[in-house]
Amino acid sequence: MNRFHSVYFGDVFSGVFLFIILIAFFALSAKAEVIITDSKMTFDEAINGTKAPKKIIENLRLIDVQYYSFDYKLHQGQLVIHKDLVEDVYKIFELMRKEKFPIAKCIPIVKYNWSDNASMEDNNTSGFNYRKVANSNKLSNHSYGFAVDFNPFQNPAVYLDGKISPKGSKYEINDPGTITSDCFITLELKKLGWTWGGDWNSLKDYQHFQKIVE
Ligand SMILES: [Zn+2]
Repeated sequence: MNRFHSVYFGDVFSGVFLFIILIAFFALSAKAEVIITDSKMTFDEAINGTKAPKKIIENLRLIDVQYYSFDYKLHQGQLVIHKDLVEDVYKIFELMRKEKFPIAKCIPIVKYNWSDNASMEDNNTSGFNYRKVANSNKLSNHSYGFAVDFNPFQNPAVYLDGKISPKGSKYEINDPGTITSDCFITLELKKLGWTWGGDWNSLKDYQHFQKIVE
């Protein structure tokens, strides 16, 4: 009888013990959020093939940024930006993460062979790109790392003639990932001295924020 009891309780205790171990394991793994890596380049890789002069490249920095994508998972991407804007950009990404504002992806545009169109069509958020303003001969502020484009598909460039870039996109202010005049991103960046392309009259460039620091 005694022997029976000890075996029986022994099994119960090991069962309870196993249960506690399992609960602890799930609690710990839920806490350590897995981060999906979208981009992990070196600075040299991130500027490879750009036509920008050395003077511009010297002022650029490659930074790691974390954001929730449209899969509601935390991702790590990278952005090339002017050194004097690094702090502002960290701040806005921190806010976006806190608010769970989705950013589709954020990969240096070298991945798209320096094609702004290819990057936009992939809904990529980007900063530096030594290029001209679309349909013009003027250098874009992206050329100096003075500008960031967020979620081009949710925040397209809408021209006066009704043309929209990227193709197939639509500006719907209630869609997740969309920037509006009164959203926290616009308010915060304006407070930091940035201007928003959604305020322009020549075209509405809803994805575009810039701050000229030189
Ligand atoms: Zn832009």
